Amino acid sequence: MFSQDSFHAPLSGLRSQKARHTRGARLIVRAESDFYAVLGVSKNASKSEIKSAYRKLARSYHPDVNKEPGAEQKFKDISNAYEVLSDDEKRSIYDRYGEAGLKGAGIGTGDFSNPFDLFESLFDGLGGMGGMGMGGRGSRSRATEGEDQMYNLVLDFKEAVFGIEKEIEVTRLEACSTCDGSGAKPGTRASKCSTCGGQGQVVQSARTPLGVFQQVMTCSSCGGAGETSTPCNTCGGDGRVRKSKRISLKVPAGVDSGSRLRVRGEGNAGRRGGPPGDLFVLLDVRPDPVLKRDDTNILYSCKVSYIDAILGTTTKVPTVDGVVDLKIPAGTQPGTTLVLAKKGVPILNRSNMRGDQLVKVQVEIPKRLSGDERKLIEELADLGKAKPLNSRR
Ligand SMILES: [Zn+2]
Ligand SMILES: [Zn+2]
Repeated sequence: MFSQDSFHAPLSGLRSQKARHTRGARLIVRAESDFYAVLGVSKNASKSEIKSAYRKLARSYHPDVNKEPGAEQKFKDISNAYEVLSDDEKRSIYDRYGEAGLKGAGIGTGDFSNPFDLFESLFDGLGGMGGMGMGGRGSRSRATEGEDQMYNLVLDFKEAVFGIEKEIEVTRLEACSTCDGSGAKPGTRASKCSTCGGQGQVVQSARTPLGVFQQVMTCSSCGGAGETSTPCNTCGGDGRVRKSKRISLKVPAGVDSGSRLRVRGEGNAGRRGGPPGDLFVLLDVRPDPVLKRDDTNILYSCKVSYIDAILGTTTKVPTVDGVVDLKIPAGTQPGTTLVLAKKGVPILNRSNMRGDQLVKVQVEIPKRLSGDERKLIEELADLGKAKPLNSRR
């Protein structure tokens, strides 16, 4: 029954592919799947464990929710495994003889014509998907989630440090009020799509060296809705119109360039009652001319004359809290870093904790000296020669 090739075939992407065996012309390519592993349950899992594992996985891989490549295939694999393991008879055959046994008993696996039926039947009976916006019962037009929107926001240095409330104006797609988001011209009725027969999906066959694969694609005529209707004049059938909205945005203290804020539900509206996408606000922070930021610390360099470095002094230093006095201790070496504790950036989401301001001391050596200065330095030098430090042995 199985061709030799099937066992050399990579598992992923091949398992549970529906492949019909037509006399000689095509190969059946299917590697044995471990349905228990697909659902992540043990061999002696109870029916309710299997059901809850399926529900959990199906939720996260449903193509309406998960747009990652491979998610749809994974969703089908999950559905296929559930179809077998949720049925006592199929499960016992599978346990004893594996997938080939099911085939032999005339119970094909992977023959679930539409895994979405399984999914919807299960969730409809249990109160649907709640906020996930899965299609209404009886209707083939599946809701789709709205796209996420991006917004670039530029902040001043201190706004990023301390946080700020900003009002931004975003333009996004909202449900059309003329057609109430349906996309159909008011007063007209939708009719079944003739291309997909209302399924919203079409099956395409692709011939590959490993055999013929069938792939379920979204119907391009109806965009997966399963029905076509006279488009609404206001939104052109999309069910959504572009509108701008002012949103008050709370930027937390401690954000930085590249930080991303997510405003749930403020992206584009979903189609046919689907949930809206999110708004992502991408932050860019203008640099400060003197204060540099290093994560939660602030870096600053101050210049001190060599005399002040030797004798010690107090100097004014700018910080994000304003100018403060910094004590330079006597004998400070060039390049010393002094710490202004807790004068740095608040830690994001823990704004009662702050980084430090690190002040690097640059000691300035004069390039030119006045006559008097020179005389004094020479006296210092003579003093040094009189009792050289390194003469002590
Ligand atoms: Zn409309
Ligand atoms: Zn269609």
